[in-house]
Amino acid sequence: MNPEKAEDPQSIAQALACAKLHDVDRLDAQLMLAALLDRPRSWLIAHDDEPLCQTHGAAFEQWLRRRRDGEPLAYLLGEKEFHGLRLQVDASVLVPRPETELLVDWGLRVLQTRPSAAECRVIDLGTGSGAIALSIKNGCPAAEVTAVDESPTALATAGRNSQALNLPVTLARGSWWAAVPGQCFDLALANPPYIAPGDEHLAALRHEPQSALIAQENGLADLDCIIAGAPDHLVPGGWLLLEHGHDQAAWVRQRLTIADFTEVQTVRDLAGIERCTGGRVLQAAMSAFRVVSSAV
Ligand code: GLN
Repeated sequence: MNPEKAEDPQSIAQALACAKLHDVDRLDAQLMLAALLDRPRSWLIAHDDEPLCQTHGAAFEQWLRRRRDGEPLAYLLGEKEFHGLRLQVDASVLVPRPETELLVDWGLRVLQTRPSAAECRVIDLGTGSGAIALSIKNGCPAAEVTAVDESPTALATAGRNSQALNLPVTLARGSWWAAVPGQCFDLALANPPYIAPGDEHLAALRHEPQSALIAQENGLADLDCIIAGAPDHLVPGGWLLLEHGHDQAAWVRQRLTIADFTEVQTVRDLAGIERCTGGRVLQAAMSAFRVVSSAV
């Protein structure tokens, strides 16, 4: 073996070709290398014959291994785009998913129908990186937004995103509604854990916080807890919008109906899957009527 040859630095093209050997998607590899070199991806493509220094080469190799082992690209890059916002993410928070943008869009539509967005109080239960709360604040700056999480590290990540994006929200630590005792909101949104313990999909999600993914009672325990507490924390006519699993929509609709919600409806994601379900708590007058009528 020629020792001089062995020390020849790898070119960018050679490093990217290595990704294939590691079974890493080409686009992912380009995004990783661009991030390591602090260059746009277009630069890599135009300069693929340039040498890669040893430090970058070794770091890239390590990222390729981590990616091959299933670590989300967002954790390696330290960021993920969601609803037009660039969010910092780390292993303390779930990587925001594109389907959750649907929940945000629905929430923003609800806010448009409220008499005055300036007086709207919104809560994001289980905020993680702050994805939902910050997108709502971005789309409706007049709303007062509260972001809740039980995990202090997740809440710290949400706080960093709030500051970096200059989107002020109130952070509250605690389990679902227990974080905001005595407070009422016009709109509540949540993407709670909804995967059943032992579900086969969890194998591919092992790098993400399990507490943000798994819920007891076949994945329904946290959805149930949020629905049960909602009437005490929503103003009359306020909305609760929930993301849930692909086969949970009918259960969520039924549960909302039992809790006296009206206008209960489900929206499908781009794959055609029933993904978010929501409803409104009854107006005060109607609730009172219900109490009277059920008393006789
Ligand atoms: N939608 C996520 C997934 O299936 C799960 C998110 C959640 O449990 N809230 O990967």
